[in-house]
Amino acid sequence: MNRFAEFLRRQIDIDLELLRWVREDVEAGNAKPCGGTVFRGFRECELKTRLLRQHQLCGSGTGPCDRLGEAYPPEDERGCATRALLGLPYADRPGYRARWRP
Ligand SMILES: [Zn+2]
Repeated sequence: MNRFAEFLRRQIDIDLELLRWVREDVEAGNAKPCGGTVFRGFRECELKTRLLRQHQLCGSGTGPCDRLGEAYPPEDERGCATRALLGLPYADRPGYRARWRP
């Protein structure tokens, strides 16, 4: 697994943990319900996880974007445009590298 894919998985895990904390605070009565924002956050994490899983082999020669001729060269850790775009919301987080920008 390459650094970019590891970075993306770690960011999604961080988001899920933050969402769990908010949900626990709301359930414990320590915070006000935020109008579905937490549930939308969980769904967005699921979407990102599914997309990442679907494109995990792109750039290796066997991913769906490789078959379409749209994968990035093997030396490009991003793999394909879909993975590169998945990293965009995390561009301000520690560990994100400028060369990963879509
Ligand atoms: Zn792909």
